[in-house]
Amino acid sequence: NVAMAKSKFEYVRAFESQELCLPNCFVVVRVDGKNFHKFSDVHKYAKPNDARALRLMNKAALRVLVEFSPEIVLAYGQSDEYSFVFKRSTEIYCRRRDKLVTNVVSHFASSFGFHWKEAFGEDELKYPPTFDGRAVLYPTLTNLRDYLSWRQADCHINNLYNTAFWSLVLKKGLSPSEAEERLRGTVSSDKNELLFSEFGINYNNEPELFKKGTVIVRSMNVNVPVPLTDESAEESAFFLSKMPKLASNFQIRNCDLIGNPFWQAVESLVDV
Ligand code: ATP
Ligand code: ATP
Ligand code: MG
Ligand code: MG
Ligand code: MG
Ligand code: MG
Repeated sequence: NVAMAKSKFEYVRAFESQELCLPNCFVVVRVDGKNFHKFSDVHKYAKPNDARALRLMNKAALRVLVEFSPEIVLAYGQSDEYSFVFKRSTEIYCRRRDKLVTNVVSHFASSFGFHWKEAFGEDELKYPPTFDGRAVLYPTLTNLRDYLSWRQADCHINNLYNTAFWSLVLKKGLSPSEAEERLRGTVSSDKNELLFSEFGINYNNEPELFKKGTVIVRSMNVNVPVPLTDESAEESAFFLSKMPKLASNFQIRNCDLIGNPFWQAVESLVDV
């Protein structure tokens, strides 16, 4: 109550420290699922990639973009992680680091639970998922691009490995340790070759959602040079269903972030 607010106990507030995010830097908040190795097991995720889970991650991310609109200019997700890029000029929460990270990660986590049923239907959520969060500051657009390239390269490397690993386990009946042994020391071209010669899989034809991860951009004034394929159109419909109106300002793409074309299209939106 009001009397308590000015009590003799008030001095303890001075013990709170506030770290501010350096001015002018992009603030990237990355969230990552806690022990999703187990979470994906308990919830019977398809291996190596469960599309329902990726779509749910995308919806939770869209919730975050809407909640903090228009402060977040770009988001990128793969596996159990999502990165949110706040515009470098943001003054949200006076750039208080704790406020930024905790609000993003808690909104993401609650949205993940909130939309669970839309993605997983009858397969129920068995326990409340946890996500961690961190903020990283990038002073230049090049640093930001390299950050996103790093995450997308990680997606590609893991996905190639996991596709080979789970093919050996699920289609060849190898044990996990045998599959691991079979892949030890192999480079990308070895894994591509293994997938093609032993399983008839052309890795290039795997879904972009799995190979590239997902980027979300504000669609207004942006012409991302990747057409919506049928697959993405279907993806978009699910993405936007049961969302606040503001959500229609955003688009998803499963496109390359490493090369220049994407940046030529979005630079003026991102670097503000
Ligand atoms: P930590 O708490 O340290 O993050 P973790 O078990 O979550 O531990 P990560 O490195 O984050 O480890 O890896 C996430 C794991 O979740 C992946 O290795 C994979 O097993 C699983 N996973 C996440 N998303 C999917 C998905 N869409 N389909 C299948 N498996 C997934
Ligand atoms: P901020 O985002 O800055 O925290 P806030 O609206 O959450 O803004 P708080 O100072 O945290 O502001 O106050 C929480 C408010 O939530 C209270 O003022 C009250 O109006 C409402 N509230 C919280 N818990 C209850 C409750 N159990 N019953 C009724 N009202 C509640
Ligand atoms: Mg981790
Ligand atoms: Mg994790
Ligand atoms: Mg992870
Ligand atoms: Mg409050």
